[in-house]
Amino acid sequence: LAKLLRVKQDRIADIMYDLELGNSEYDRVLKADDASLIAMELEYNPVVDDVAAFDIYPEPMPSDQSSLPARPPIVTIMGHVDHGKTTLLDTLRSATVAAGESGGITQHIGAFSVPLNSLSVQTSGTNSKTVTFLDTPGHAAFSAMRARGANVTDIIVLVVAADDGVMPQTREVINLATKDSKVQMIVAINKCDKPGIDATNIKHDLLSEGVELEEFGGDIPCVEVSGLTGLGLDKLMETIIAVAEISDLRAEKNLRAHGHVLEARMEKGKGAVATVLVSRGTLNRGDPIVAGATWAKVRQMTDDKGRAVTSATPGMPVTVSGWDSLPVAGDEVLAPSPSKKAADEVKRAVTNRIREKEAETLMDDVQSINEKRRLDRRRRNDQLLATSSKGGNAAPAPAPAPASASAYAQDEDDGIKELRLIVKADVSGTIEAVVGAIEGIGNKEARVSIIQSGVGDVTDSDVALAKTTDGMILGFNVSVPRNVEGMASQACVPLHVDTVIYRLIEEVTARVTALLPKII
Ligand code: GDP
Repeated sequence: LAKLLRVKQDRIADIMYDLELGNSEYDRVLKADDASLIAMELEYNPVVDDVAAFDIYPEPMPSDQSSLPARPPIVTIMGHVDHGKTTLLDTLRSATVAAGESGGITQHIGAFSVPLNSLSVQTSGTNSKTVTFLDTPGHAAFSAMRARGANVTDIIVLVVAADDGVMPQTREVINLATKDSKVQMIVAINKCDKPGIDATNIKHDLLSEGVELEEFGGDIPCVEVSGLTGLGLDKLMETIIAVAEISDLRAEKNLRAHGHVLEARMEKGKGAVATVLVSRGTLNRGDPIVAGATWAKVRQMTDDKGRAVTSATPGMPVTVSGWDSLPVAGDEVLAPSPSKKAADEVKRAVTNRIREKEAETLMDDVQSINEKRRLDRRRRNDQLLATSSKGGNAAPAPAPAPASASAYAQDEDDGIKELRLIVKADVSGTIEAVVGAIEGIGNKEARVSIIQSGVGDVTDSDVALAKTTDGMILGFNVSVPRNVEGMASQACVPLHVDTVIYRLIEEVTARVTALLPKII
């Protein structure tokens, strides 16, 4: 930002301090709003670039998703305290270990994948081979994430203990799930291993809470399970898959990664580590990503079994190290375009905008230069008139205005001397300013004539034009490729390129003056 605004980094830090923008360390990632404030403080008129913004935000979802690869459903288990959520998650998690899926212990990273084969789940025609469970403890975390717009869950499994029934937090979950049209709910009546359990009462209670269970003609599936013994867990998994199948969950793999932070913590030797759940695209090791107010260059990625991985596809939770500072759960994870071309385009757009702004300032300068020039001219004329009337004889002087007008016209007919110019500048705003500043240079004997003006670096055709018209090339904030410079010197075409408008004016003035007849 300092580079773009052409100030020292310290100046940015000072402004940030004055504006109370918080941490002004050199590697702080600024949001568009804060960067705009700083730019405005330096009298720029920033525009938040939607093109650049688009470059970091995920592409819109394609309208036809049927050809995209299937992705695992993301499931959150919720329910009243002590109804068995943790036990259920533990059993599901250890099932994946038992199935020989991992080399050892499972790691708690905020989410885990359960391969369908680990619970001998019967599925028909599904493309998805796993189910991803979030195990962020409690639904406070879930609500906090949702409050931040991070709706990562597709399915909520509402756990209701068969020996306890509908409780306050059960109702909260029901409210949450029914309010959100995007999330599907499945009821799991838990602790069904206990003797003397009758789930029918619970189902009726749920019905009176507005939960329309399938067996009563509604569309909410209900399964009887035991997190402790594993009873009915295969049925639960089948139900999850069936619900996911109806939702037809799909996501592109071949895209810049987009996802959310599920958890973040400091780890010894690794620094800030965050669990990222990719929802679209693929996250690769080495990718630069931003999340909230921080960023990472993905250094290491590990899966839920602690195994190192080099990429993460949709629905796959991974821990990511390489963060600049700790991100916050619920932060959106975005990957800027990796293409250098796209990055260059954004940079050019921003630079051009700043140059346009400079051009406006230049325009103001030019206006004051021209105003001064006009005043000078009038003063000289007045002096001239004063001396001629003072030194003149008694005869009345001829009316000065028509006399000088006809003299000027004559001179013009006689072939007034011209400095022919081909003007090049970096942006259209500066072209206007430069032309405005130089076209007024000269007098009735020699003046500037602008043959052509344009945006961009000096080219061979500029040299050709200058040669045929006997003109010179004037450049402002542009460069001259070496071969073009060679052509110009070979063709004896004068070439002056500058980044300072006053020097450009001086150069033109000097050349116009040189055209004037020598006063002997
Ligand atoms: P949470 O607060 O919802 O996470 O509930 P926990 O998983 O911590 O379980 C609370 C208590 O219920 C613990 O003592 C568990 O052992 C017990 N429990 C959980 N699931 C079952 C189950 O399926 N059957 C039986 N009999 N007890 C269970």
